[in-house]
Amino acid sequence: MERRNFLRVGGQLTGAALLATAAARIFSPPNEDAEFIAQGRRFCWQIDPEKCRYCGICETACVRKPSAVKALNDQKKCSNCVVCYGHITDTHIESEKIDREGTRVCPYNAVLRKNFSGGADGMFLYSHDQSNCVGCAKCVKRCNERGTQSMFLVIRPDLCLGCNECAIAVACPHNAIERIPREPVDDYHGDYRFDTAYINGEDV
Ligand code: SF4
Ligand code: SF4
Ligand code: SF4
Repeated sequence: MERRNFLRVGGQLTGAALLATAAARIFSPPNEDAEFIAQGRRFCWQIDPEKCRYCGICETACVRKPSAVKALNDQKKCSNCVVCYGHITDTHIESEKIDREGTRVCPYNAVLRKNFSGGADGMFLYSHDQSNCVGCAKCVKRCNERGTQSMFLVIRPDLCLGCNECAIAVACPHNAIERIPREPVDDYHGDYRFDTAYINGEDV
């Protein structure tokens, strides 16, 4: 992802989070608003995918447990392969055996595979179960080193505490965490909303 796109996606994620925050604050009682604590700030921490080398520190360094970092799959870059490097490790397995027998890359089985074209060798949609992902980067590493580089990590603004000094930024060996300005985008329905809708079985 180019730097311009990185900043755009970061701004868009932020915009989506701001909208979610507003909705949450309107419709939720105060004690259910705890996930949206970083809102109202003019800056947020975000990962530059050009610099990230998927070391796994994002899972453990974040002060939040589980981490505010989650994996996403850019559906425009994904090749919708029958066998996904970020999904399973045994890439010579037959398509119809993958769901049942495929050895998962993700320790939490958070990479989801869905056939959307029909047929065992058709087109497959890969997404991330946001509620189970801990940001360990295992799937992202394999996708980037062997696949189409469509998977990447983000710091979700609606989960991030907006620490003055991001603990991941301090620990990151590749200096991949940056503090970027929020942008007032109000119509973004981006990838992690897509993933959530997918998980819930909604039309997207
Ligand atoms: S600590 Fe840095 S290099 Fe490691 S996964 Fe996180 S952003 Fe990527
Ligand atoms: S392998 Fe790690 S980063 Fe990928 S979905 Fe699973 S927990 Fe998230
Ligand atoms: S700012 Fe704090 S909560 Fe947000 S990603 Fe960094 S360490 Fe985690």
